[in-house]
Amino acid sequence: MKALQYVEVGKAPEVREVPTPEPGPGEVRLKVTAAGACHSDSFVMGLSEEQYTAFGYPLPMTLGHEGVGVVDALGDGVRAVELGESVAVYGPQGCGRCKPCAEGSENYCPHAAAMGITPPGLGTDGAMAEYMIVRDPRLLIPLGDLDPVENVALTDAGLTPYHAVKGSMEFLVPGSVAVVIGVGGLGHVAVQMLRAMTSATVVALDVSESKLEFAREVGAHHAFLSDENAAQRIAEEVGPGPAAAVFDFVTNDKVLDIVYALSGPRTDMVLVGAGAVERTVGLLGQPFGSRVRAPYWGTRPELMEVFELARTGQVTVETERFSLHDGPEAYRKLHDGELRGRAVVVP
Ligand code: NAD
Ligand code: ZN
Repeated sequence: MKALQYVEVGKAPEVREVPTPEPGPGEVRLKVTAAGACHSDSFVMGLSEEQYTAFGYPLPMTLGHEGVGVVDALGDGVRAVELGESVAVYGPQGCGRCKPCAEGSENYCPHAAAMGITPPGLGTDGAMAEYMIVRDPRLLIPLGDLDPVENVALTDAGLTPYHAVKGSMEFLVPGSVAVVIGVGGLGHVAVQMLRAMTSATVVALDVSESKLEFAREVGAHHAFLSDENAAQRIAEEVGPGPAAAVFDFVTNDKVLDIVYALSGPRTDMVLVGAGAVERTVGLLGQPFGSRVRAPYWGTRPELMEVFELARTGQVTVETERFSLHDGPEAYRKLHDGELRGRAVVVP
C-alpha cells in the first residue's frame, strides 16, 4: 500500500510503498477514508536530530493523527465493531485500565508513555496511508452518517478546542469576552464552539487580513491583527477587559505578551499551541487569581460530543482536500500558513 511517511529528520515527508499491515489479536484494520494534517506534525518535523531523538519516535513513521476509515479486517477476538462500519480513531490513547482511562480521559493516562503507547502518526504509524491498524476497538468512535472527509479533522482540530473551551465554561458567563489567537485548523473550530456553547463575545486574532475575514465568517464578533497593539485595540473597540478566557493556538513568547496584556484577575489563560516559551509564572508573574492551563487533546466521550455538534450543524470544518500523492504539498501549505481551515488527505 501507499503511505505518507516522515523518513529522515529535517527532510520533507515522502509517499512510499510499504507492506499492507495485518491486524494482530485484538486489533482492527481500517481502510482509511480521510486523514488530517495538523500543525503538531509540522512541529515534529521541524525538530532537530537531537530533539527528535528525545521524542523517541521511530523512523520511517507514517504521518497522520487525525484519521477516519471503514473497518476492513478484524484481529482475533474482536467483536465490538463490524466490518464495513465507518469510524473515527480516538488518537490520545492510554493504557485503557487506570481511572483516567476508565473515565474516558485517555489523554491524561499516566501510564501510556511508560508503556510505549503513542498516538497514531505521533510515534506509531498513522492515518496517512491506504490502511492503518488500531490497537483496540474501544478507540473507534462511530461516525454514522457524518461525511468522513468533512469531519476527520474533528478528531483533533475539533476535539482539542472542545476540551479547551469546556474547561473554561465557568469563566464564560454572559457579558464575558473570549479571545482566540490563531484562527487556523484548531482556532476556526474554537470560534464556532465558543459561539455554539457560550454567550461570550468572541474576539479573534491572526496575522493576515484574509485570516481575519475567515474568523468573521466562522462567527467571530470581532477580529484584529495579532500585534503589539492588539490588546489596546480590543480595549477600545470591545471593552476595557480583562478577557474571561484567552485561547492561544500559537503559544510563543511574542504571543504570550498579548495573552498577558489581555489577562487580569480571574482570566483563564489556555495555552494550546506548541511554541516555545520562557516566562515567569506564579504570583509575581501573572495576574492574581488567573489560571494558566495547558490542555492536551480531549477525552473519548468529548469526541462523541464533538460529533454531535457537527451532526446538528453547529460546527463545520473548512477543509482543503489533497490526494496522498499531494500530501507533502499539504504539509508545505500548512507550514507556510497558506491553508484556510484544515488540509485533509484522501488516500
Ligand atoms: P494552523 O497552522 O492550522 O493554525 C495556526 C494559526 O495561527 C494560523 O491561522 C496562523 O496564521 C496563526 N498564527 C501564526 N502566528 C500567529 C501570531 N503570532 N498571532 C496570531 N496568530 C498567529 O495550526 P493548528 O493545526 O491549528 O495548530 C495550532 C497549534 O496547536 C500548534 O502549535 C499545534 O502544535 C498545537 N496543537 C496542540 C494540541 C494540544 O493538544 N494542546 C493539539 C493539536 C495541535
Ligand atoms: Zn494535532
